[in-house]
Amino acid sequence: MPAPQQTLTEFIIAEQRRSPGATGTLTALINDIRICCTRIAHLVGKGALADAHGKAGSVNVQDEEQAKLDLLANEIFLTINERGGSLAAMVSEEMAEVYPIADDIPRGRYLLAFDPLDGSSNIDVNSPVGSIFSVQALPPGVSDGDASSFLQPGSRQVCAGYALYGATTMIVLSLGRGTHGFTLDREIGEFILTHPDVRVPERASEFAINSSNARHWEPAVRRYVDECLAGRNGPRAKDFNMRWVAALVAEAHRILMRGGIFLYPRDGREGGGSGKLRLLYEASPIGFLVEQAGGRASTGYGPILDLVPQSIHQRTGFIFGSRTEVERIEEYHRNHNEQVYDAPLFGTRGLFRDSA
Ligand code: MN
Ligand code: MN
Repeated sequence: MPAPQQTLTEFIIAEQRRSPGATGTLTALINDIRICCTRIAHLVGKGALADAHGKAGSVNVQDEEQAKLDLLANEIFLTINERGGSLAAMVSEEMAEVYPIADDIPRGRYLLAFDPLDGSSNIDVNSPVGSIFSVQALPPGVSDGDASSFLQPGSRQVCAGYALYGATTMIVLSLGRGTHGFTLDREIGEFILTHPDVRVPERASEFAINSSNARHWEPAVRRYVDECLAGRNGPRAKDFNMRWVAALVAEAHRILMRGGIFLYPRDGREGGGSGKLRLLYEASPIGFLVEQAGGRASTGYGPILDLVPQSIHQRTGFIFGSRTEVERIEEYHRNHNEQVYDAPLFGTRGLFRDSA
């Protein structure tokens, strides 16, 4: 009989053995996160049967309407990870302030930032949603997990990952040695290593962007998209496909599996200048996974993982995917700082003409 495939738990323990001096707290924390994701997968899978569909009737700190599942998933993350005793504090998309660990629970040296349910507008249409998590260590000499302790560049993450609750449930994570994918075997309740060492293909012919914002885009993004749309007869001399799932986790997963590029750039709208996605619990962890898989993650102007957060809910422009495509967009950003792009497809040829 062939040996059983490696489970996520076994994988993390093996990783722990490779890190001399590891105490096992990170292993315990990732195990707790795994349990959270299993529970959320169960709820998501129940759908309307679990009475977990629909709006909660409240808004979060970002002024987004909260779905019932946003709040349930948030509760699951808070309760299970707090009890584990590995954490100094948590930050959640659904909570304005840092969540401190209760006084009667042992305190660890890790900081957890998470988006408990990504793409929650997809719930009621039975489309994929996910959870995103980012683990940092308390900075040296700091013993308390306040907001400032979370403001470290993404390159310092010790673990980043997501769960995707799609046709199958998967966890994809990185501890800084590659990006690895695990599929939930529902019969045995375990995540099995099915996608070791994921690599983002170098080149791409798929792009993902919400083009309803086209009129607000910066020249570099207009140029990039124009050139993709021009296809075989344009400067890129090949046809592209466009994709948009409206859940960051699902877009990231597709790109990790088969390449392509995702753009949610900063734009010229009021408030759009700092982008839409949140740095700490969306762009940073996804960026870490993409870079660990050989892709590139960028603000459009430079590496997302170098960006030092100024606040826990900071937003950022975010572009990631196949390395050569992201580098091309960064180059366009550099060029069009000095030189205006005249956007032929948006102007004279009128493919995306603004209402004049
Ligand atoms: Mn999200
Ligand atoms: Mn969310």
